[in-house]
This record gives sequence, structure tokens and C-alpha cells, in this order.
Amino acid sequence: MDFGLSREDKLFLESVRAFAERVIAPRWVEIDERKWPIEEVAARLGEVGLLGIPLSSKYGGQDGTFLQAALAAEELAYADPSLATAVYMLLETAWPYVVQRYGREEVKGEVLPEVARGRAFIGIGSTEPQGGSDVASVQTKAVREDGGVWRLYGEKNMVTGVSTILNLPYGGGVVAITRTGRPEEKHRGVTVFLAMLKRRGRVSPGFSHRDWEEVGRHGLPTGYLMLEGLPVEEVFMLGELNGGFKVAMEGFNLARTIIGAASIGAARWLMDRALEWIKQRVVFGRPIASYQAVSFKFAELYARLEAARLAVYKAAWVADRHYGGDPAFSMQEVATAGASAKFLAVSLAVEVGLEVMKWFGGASYFKETNVARSLLGVLSYYVGAEGAENILKLIIARNVVGREFV
Ligand SMILES: Cc1cc2nc3c(=O)[nH]c(=O)nc-3n(C[C@H](O)[C@H](O)[C@H](O)COP(=O)(O)OP(=O)(O)OC[C@H]3O[C@@H](n4cnc5c(N)ncnc54)[C@H](O)[C@@H]3O)c2cc1C
Repeated sequence: MDFGLSREDKLFLESVRAFAERVIAPRWVEIDERKWPIEEVAARLGEVGLLGIPLSSKYGGQDGTFLQAALAAEELAYADPSLATAVYMLLETAWPYVVQRYGREEVKGEVLPEVARGRAFIGIGSTEPQGGSDVASVQTKAVREDGGVWRLYGEKNMVTGVSTILNLPYGGGVVAITRTGRPEEKHRGVTVFLAMLKRRGRVSPGFSHRDWEEVGRHGLPTGYLMLEGLPVEEVFMLGELNGGFKVAMEGFNLARTIIGAASIGAARWLMDRALEWIKQRVVFGRPIASYQAVSFKFAELYARLEAARLAVYKAAWVADRHYGGDPAFSMQEVATAGASAKFLAVSLAVEVGLEVMKWFGGASYFKETNVARSLLGVLSYYVGAEGAENILKLIIARNVVGREFV
């Protein structure tokens, strides 16, 4: 067992850290206040090869690993603890990878290089107004017309990046989870399309949207998407007809692992700010770090952060083994490790955020100290994005205890 990074991974980490410190960290509050548009941030990420890290170089990617993607997400989240930059990057790790695995050649050749350059965004359109956890019950319909074009009808809710797509020069689309079978067929009647909302600079007909007003992570918009007959050519189907559930789950597994990494980055940033603060904040004549109520809690969170970080790296490593073709690592293990990574890292990052706010005292309640901006970013994943906590436990229990008991 080796807990060190390879020489290549170390060099990669150093170069991402240098970029994040120089370009992102000085302007992260501007990103959160929407003064530095995420589309411009994306162009910078694309220039240095941080979009589509595991994509093949054939499609403009880096031929990188999920471990490298996790390291990058952690560093970007440390530099922008509101999480907008890291979330942009991680979504463009997971969902384009799914397109690479299940998309048709002409689609991959056209869209993925644009994603890698930061000129297109691929999001996920899973959640609907009736709920996000029960993906097998999606109601959005895909109907095939004569001539082979599909039309999408239905409502998707809380979709990240729709306005981003519309603002980017090429555009992009969402991995749309749709019903092509009967409702009672559940996951066996689900098909996934890369539903293009803007392609080659032209906005598609047949949809409308509006952004919600988030409580945090303001830099990356999330909103409601109404599909009103959006046309999708057959070549944009990902995988097989009625075989889309598995395709979508692969994307969620990967995204969860990298979300874990982003949450670790934000938690590390919070802990480092806290360390400076507790040593210099003097109350009752002593720095608050000298009170064990503070330093022991710091020690506990530090130890748990180390454990969660290892769980995240392991999940990325398991994904690399699986996708590298090692038969010893099944898809089920990728799912269990990804759910565990997200569960441990996100809940810990929220706890760290709350504790650090208490150490900062009243000052933390004001935007100027910026601590709350990070907590609010992490909260998006705590309340549900890419799988609510109970759903992560459901996945782990099903895979470990057994489907027949859960
Ligand atoms: C900032 C943000 C960005 C998002 N971006 C996207 C996006 O880009 N694309 C997208 O498709 N979605 C997105 N989402 C939505 C997210 O995926 C959903 O919030 C999530 O899947 C949960 O769905 P829900 O909110 O409808 O909760 P529900 O599914 O209604 O669940 C409500 C509660 O019930 C619990 N619950 C449900 N089933 C069970 C069960 N069997 N056992 C025990 N407890 C259960 C859940 O854990 C949860 O606490 C985003 C959400 C946020 C906050």
C-alpha cells in the first residue's frame, strides 16, 4: 500500500494548485457575486486542460484519471470555496465521460472538444418537480417521430447550467433522463439523450427555462427547464433504447466521487482559515486555541477530514481501476465507493462549516468574513444535489447488506 502520489500525479497537483492560487483564489468572491461570469472562468479552465480530464485526447481531453480529477476538484474548491468553479469542473468530468462511453462517434467528435475548451457545457437533467430521488419514475417523455427525430416533453427541475449553456459560444445540452417505456416498467423504460439546448451557437427550439435564486454558490446557475417538444436527433441517444438507467447511474457514481473531493477542498479551506483565527483571537486574555473546547474539536475535525479525504481518493482510485478494465473492481464497487465518498465528505464539510462559524463568532454572519459563503456552497450537496444523504445510504445498504433487505 502506498499513500503517496505518483511523480506524474504530484506534478499535476502542483500545476493545478499554482493555477488555482494565481487565477481563481484572488477572484472567488467575484465569482460568487457574479461579477466574474462562470463562462469566462470556464474558458480559463479549458485553457489549462481542467475540463474533461478523463476524456480521451481524441476528443480534446487529457487522457487523465479520476484520481487526477479528484485532486483538481479539491484544489479548485480550496481556491473557490463557494464551490462554483469546482462544480463546473466536476460536472464536466462526469457527464462528458458518460457521453464518451455511450455516445455515437459523430456526436462525441463534435461536442466533447468544445466542452474541453470551455466553449460548451454538458449538464444533467434528471430531477423533476415530483422529486429527484426516484430516478426510475421520471415522467419526461421522449416520443419518436417519423424520420427518426425524437421530441422531448416534460419538466425538469433544478438543472444546473442551462443559462450557462445559452451564454457559451458553442452551447451544449443536458443528459436528459426520459421515459420511453410504460411508467410501470420503471428503470427498464428509461432512455437517456444528450439533449442539445444550443448547438454550434444556435439555440434549439422547443424549450424554455428560468433560473432559481440560490441561497449560495451563486456563480453557477440552477433552474427549471420546460421541455416543450425539444427535437433530438437519434444519434444523440446515449446507449440503447430503454437502457438509459444504467448510463445515468454511471454519471452519478462518478460525479459523487468528485463532489466528495470538492467538499474536502472547501473543508480544508475552512479549517485553514480557522487555524489562523483561533490562534490570534484573544478572549478572556488567551487565544481561543488554548481552550480545549476549541482545540480538541479542531483535532477531531482534522482527523475526520483526513479519513474522508482518503475515502474520496479511494473512490476515485476504484473508478480508475474499473474503467481501466481491472475485473477485480465492479461497477457496484464504484457505486458504493462513490456514495460513501460523497456521504462522508459532504456531511463533514457541513459540520466543519458550522463549527468554524462558531469559532469566528458573530463576525462569521457577515459576508465580509466569507466563511458562510463556503458553508452555503457545500449545503447544496448536503440537501440533495447528485443524491440526497438517505439515497446514498440506500445505495450502500443495497450493495453491502443486500438488495433483498433494502
Ligand atoms: C444546487 C443544486 C443543484 C442541482 N443540480 C441538479 C442538476 O443539475 N440536475 C438535476 O437533475 N438535479 C439537480 N439538483 C436536484 C437534486 O438532484 C435533487 O435535489 C436530489 O436528487 C433530491 O431530489 P429532491 O430534492 O426532489 O428530493 P426528494 O426526492 O423529494 O426527497 C426528499 C427527501 O426524502 C428523502 N427520501 C427519498 N426517498 C427516500 C427513501 N427511499 N428512504 C429514505 N429517505 C428518502 C430524501 O433523502 C430527501 O431527504 C440540484 C439540486 C441542488 C440543490
